[in-house]
This record gives sequence, structure tokens and C-alpha cells, in this order.
Amino acid sequence: MPWDLNELAKHQAYLKGHFVLTTGRHSDQFLLMARLTERPWALAEWTKELAFRLKDYGARTVVGPAVGGIIPAYAVASEWEGSRMLFAEKSDNGSMSFKRGFSLAPGEKVVVVEDVVTTGSSVDKVIEAVHGAGGMVVAVGALVDRGHDKPHWNDRGFEALLRLAPGSIPTWDPGECPLCQAGIPLTRPKA
Ligand SMILES: [Zn+2]
Repeated sequence: MPWDLNELAKHQAYLKGHFVLTTGRHSDQFLLMARLTERPWALAEWTKELAFRLKDYGARTVVGPAVGGIIPAYAVASEWEGSRMLFAEKSDNGSMSFKRGFSLAPGEKVVVVEDVVTTGSSVDKVIEAVHGAGGMVVAVGALVDRGHDKPHWNDRGFEALLRLAPGSIPTWDPGECPLCQAGIPLTRPKA
């Protein structure tokens, strides 16, 4: 089982075209992981392996950021007997927090699972939420790493099934986008 862009493309989770990203920048490639999580049996090919790689970190509590991390985090947790799965949500001030009565025991070991790590800012906020709730993040797992640079994760462990080289998915400021200059229509795959 290859965890690669071809596999994602089979499920329309990897697109080529002309896209506006959530950051406002433009790109010729887009990762639309909802099209993979749409098919639980296809997702399981990824999350079974991610659960295997994360298991030895010793956590049985999995936390995912809403929205994209919820389904992969749930799928990873479902591989471990007796596990729990919580999700963190954006607060009004832009941080992530636990709502809905979710809580952690003091020192409870946690792995954070995300679908795609781009800048790592969502995972950073989830780590803060876990620590704020008294837990301890022992590892971060992702289906795809788009090429972040977060050395402070290394002492916790970082497992990603598909690691893209930094810059392998180019992005452009709208004013400098070659696809705009070529007159190619812009699309918003998540809209
Ligand atoms: Zn453009």
C-alpha cells in the first residue's frame, strides 16, 4: 500500500488545477482530504498504518483538531482497545480548546492526529489545549506532511505517512500567480 499522491488522486483527494487556499494564496495543487475520509475503507489503509506507527508512544488518548482532524483521529483511536478520542475546537480568540465536557486526567498521554500538516499552527494550538487541560502530548501523527519546520515536535515524535518535500506544492501571492496571468478560472474546492 503506497501512501502517496497517486493514491490520494484515486479518491479525488489530490487535485490539479487553479486553487485559492485558506491562506489566500494560489496553487496548482490541492489536498482535499474529505474525499479520502468519505470512504472509511480507503481511509483505514492510512489510519491503520498511522496507528501502528504511533502505538509505541504509549498514549491511548487521541486528540484531533476540528474539522479535518476529527475523522482521522477517530479512525486511529478505533485501532486501539480502550482508547478515547477527543476533539478540540476553535475558540473566539483563535486558540483551540476542549468543549462538550471533554477533559484529560493529569499527565494523561495524548497523541495529536491531523489530516494535513501545512504550517503546523493548528497542531500547535491543539498541543496548547492538551497541556492547558493537564495532558501531555507524546507524539503528533498526520496523514500528510506538506513540509513544515517544527523542530520542537521532534522530541515528542512526529509520524506522517506522506511527507512532501518543502515547496513541492508551490503557492503564489495572487498578484504573482502564473495561472491567474494565463486566465485559468480559480476554484475553491472546500466551498
Ligand atoms: Zn491564481
